[in-house]
Amino acid sequence: MRIDVLTLFPEMFGAVLGQSILRRAQRAEKVSIEVHDLRDYSTDRHRSVDDRPYGGGPGMVLSAEPVYRAVESLTSPVDRPVRRILLSPQGRPYDQACARDLSRSDHLLLLCGHYEGFDERIREGLDFEEISVGDYVLTGGELPSMILIDSVVRLLPGVLGDPESAIEDSFSHGLLDHPHYTRPPRFRGMEVPEVLRSGDHGAICRWREQQREERTRSRRPRLWERYQKEQETMRPSIGGREKECRDGNSG
Ligand code: SAM
Repeated sequence: MRIDVLTLFPEMFGAVLGQSILRRAQRAEKVSIEVHDLRDYSTDRHRSVDDRPYGGGPGMVLSAEPVYRAVESLTSPVDRPVRRILLSPQGRPYDQACARDLSRSDHLLLLCGHYEGFDERIREGLDFEEISVGDYVLTGGELPSMILIDSVVRLLPGVLGDPESAIEDSFSHGLLDHPHYTRPPRFRGMEVPEVLRSGDHGAICRWREQQREERTRSRRPRLWERYQKEQETMRPSIGGREKECRDGNSG
């Protein structure tokens, strides 16, 4: 996968892209990530990329010209299809299903806004999908871009040491993840549940499934409702995960 990022603040990305799993994924050539400074696409000698809003009002607006130039130079019509993503609080709410969908793309182009936002003609003429990371407003699209990159790259084949971990994560099956424990078995009076030390993989699998369901029901009622509906449509045959536990697959 290739990911290009357009931003006014390329230095913000170094720490995140240069550490841990994202760094390893790039080294292993699972993904190539290029961060581009939008000012490099400015045509004036001050390298300016923004201007005051027509009609007045506070703040500055990202100009259309440098963004068009950048997008056109990074996406050639003969290349494989590019998904153009504009980070915006007005976009479609980002979730795990969206991350999974993006992880199947060959090439992503991410545009980070700043200040008051974008000249509307960027939306009108450049065929961007708009994605929001939540109903709150950040100063720029850099953190949202990094969220998107992190969540997508960890889903690429071969990036996580154990592919099972992405499968077991929250939201992968419509449920939150179950609790995890490591040594010691007793810590400040709190015990690791007996079943996890029993070696009975079927029982462990069932316990984890119950915990996922209970957590989702109590913490995320809407997610739980959706999950139940999906389970209903899967019956009367035994659902995949339930069957896995019956077959003794600990997952
Ligand atoms: N005036 C804009 C509005 O109300 O829609 C907000 C502009 S915001 C201060 C500057 C930039 O930060 C946006 O153009 C966008 O790229 C990014 N941004 C802020 N909040 C975001 C969010 N929740 N999701 C994705 N991007 C966001």
